[in-house]
Amino acid sequence: MIERSLFTEEHEIWRASVRRFVEAEIVPYHAKWEEEGIVPRDLWLKAGAQGLLCCTVPEEYGGLGLDYLFDVVVFEELWRVGASGPGFLIHTDLVATYILSFGTDAQKREWLPRMVKGEAIGSLGMTEPHAGSDLKAIRTQARRDGDDYVINGQKVFISNGQLCNVIVLATKTDSGAGASGVTLFLVESNRPGFTRGRNLEKLGMKAQDTSELFFEDVRIPASNMLGPAGKGFALMMTKLPQERLAQAIRSATVTETVIEWTADYTAGRKAFGQTIADFQNTQYVLADLKARATMARVFTDKCIELFLNDKLDAVDAAMAKLVTSELHCEAVDKCLQLFGGWGYMWEYPICRAYADARVVKIAGGSVEVMKTIIARDMFKGRLPARSPRG
Ligand SMILES: Cc1cc2nc3c(=O)[nH]c(=O)nc-3n(C[C@H](O)[C@H](O)[C@H](O)COP(=O)(O)OP(=O)(O)OC[C@H]3O[C@@H](n4cnc5c(N)ncnc54)[C@H](O)[C@@H]3O)c2cc1C
Repeated sequence: MIERSLFTEEHEIWRASVRRFVEAEIVPYHAKWEEEGIVPRDLWLKAGAQGLLCCTVPEEYGGLGLDYLFDVVVFEELWRVGASGPGFLIHTDLVATYILSFGTDAQKREWLPRMVKGEAIGSLGMTEPHAGSDLKAIRTQARRDGDDYVINGQKVFISNGQLCNVIVLATKTDSGAGASGVTLFLVESNRPGFTRGRNLEKLGMKAQDTSELFFEDVRIPASNMLGPAGKGFALMMTKLPQERLAQAIRSATVTETVIEWTADYTAGRKAFGQTIADFQNTQYVLADLKARATMARVFTDKCIELFLNDKLDAVDAAMAKLVTSELHCEAVDKCLQLFGGWGYMWEYPICRAYADARVVKIAGGSVEVMKTIIARDMFKGRLPARSPRG
């Protein structure tokens, strides 16, 4: 077996402590949160108190200043038990990262200490009802008015949408300018004119709040701008490899997990006088998945290593997300099959894992967009340049 070599003893001690937290504070309650469609705010405070949120935030902004692998451990331990409800990944890996990378000192001081503690929850507002993959087509408008901007528009599918206190919002400050008209803002959820829409009903990830957000004449000071005007699209592009890497980590972890669950289950379940695991079909299905899960893990770990050295590019990240998310969906399907009818029952984790999985081929850049990125790179110099995307 190829051993993972990324993590030090310190990371493993951290893993044990995160695992204890997840087993005590999340696993026993997750089914109830799925019924409620949301996790309690209290969980965020507990997670913050244990240091599980935004591990890389430097000490001067209230964090622990740890390396990215500490965040990776938190994500892996959540996925390992199928805890798809707590939206820590969006909060830590996207919102805090955007503020850390593009924010002013004042913005960092305002938000990061509270985000580390779980007192303020972040969400990322990009997608709109008519614009998802094609982000430069967003219509939410931010119009300059004296020292302020006035925001009008609508977002959809926003993770942490019901809970969020701050939104990294993609807007258009120049509606005629395409990608170069996109500007990011930090918008507080207590601004007049901001309202949350429905907590959307989803196929899976039922404990995670995913919402519409509405902005009607929401007035914010110009100092809430995140990064320069008109540079929002370019800034978002710089963060896409990290977002896709996080998705690959999710898929690699869930794939390994469901294979283990299925090996355990089939070794105990009997049919025709033998265990399900005795059937050659079961062994072949699981062996095939295991071999590919191992390759997915090795490639994903390599991408983590590249990321730690500031060398992960968009194409490698796209390849990681493409292959791991497709394998993830295939694995939950094939593993559920080996559970028979029990696999179709919500009380079985494989059933939830199946429902949770489908989104990985859509969100954070669909598999088609990943293929487009890879193909564009392959055909660079071979075919005439087309309009840029993703
Ligand atoms: C559970 C969930 C959580 C989410 N969380 C967030 C969030 O927190 N913040 C946020 O901003 N967004 C979020 N999203 C939105 C997500 O990022 C979008 O759904 C995704 O980018 C796809 O956009 P779309 O849904 O508009 O699909 P569309 O862009 O309409 O795409 C529809 C289909 O067309 C395909 N397609 C599009 N362009 C191309 C192309 N160039 N070539 C080939 N095929 C193409 C797509 O791959 C897809 O199969 C979330 C979505 C879900 C489901």
